[in-house]
Amino acid sequence: MSKRERLQDLQQLFETENECLLKEAAIQAVYGDGNPSAKVVFIGEAPGKKEDLTGKPFVGASGKFLDEMLASINMKRQDIYITNIVKYRPPENRDPTNKEIASCEAWLHAELAFIQPRLIVTLGRYALNHFIPSVSIGEAHGQFFQKDIPGLGCFTFFALYHPAAALYNGSLRETLKKDFQKIALFLKESSST
Ligand code: URA
Repeated sequence: MSKRERLQDLQQLFETENECLLKEAAIQAVYGDGNPSAKVVFIGEAPGKKEDLTGKPFVGASGKFLDEMLASINMKRQDIYITNIVKYRPPENRDPTNKEIASCEAWLHAELAFIQPRLIVTLGRYALNHFIPSVSIGEAHGQFFQKDIPGLGCFTFFALYHPAAALYNGSLRETLKKDFQKIALFLKESSST
């Protein structure tokens, strides 16, 4: 069985077993997507309308913008793995609650345990504060953190603004672009170790 097939099995298992109440209103679960051997995992907040319709993460406007940012450091979707802290679209795209985040946590952590990325990039404050609760996105963006995920071990995190926040805000857009450069540098340096 290939790594991709094993990851698909894992997704199906967690889809069956999770007790997230968001599934009642959503069309479908949105699995993480991309390269199961990626060195970098990007984690967003929750699927939106387009993601709910297609079952794929970051296929709407935020995803297009993310692709532009990836291209600015010569990367493509196929080079990364991308997922969300909650796997179902919250009604009207409202913020996910702590309970909803907690009920998708085992699924997210299983994806990370499977992929074992060198770097976890959090997109926006929900993904950041899931792992590093004590910091604000305004202070943390563009910075690396070492943090233990209970039961999984220590990972390196990098905080970014959510692409949706930067999409229509010129100054955040520039900040996001600059922060992205640090990902390229990290990967260059870590590939030589
Ligand atoms: N925003 C997110 O946080 N995740 C998606 O999948 C799409 C938009």
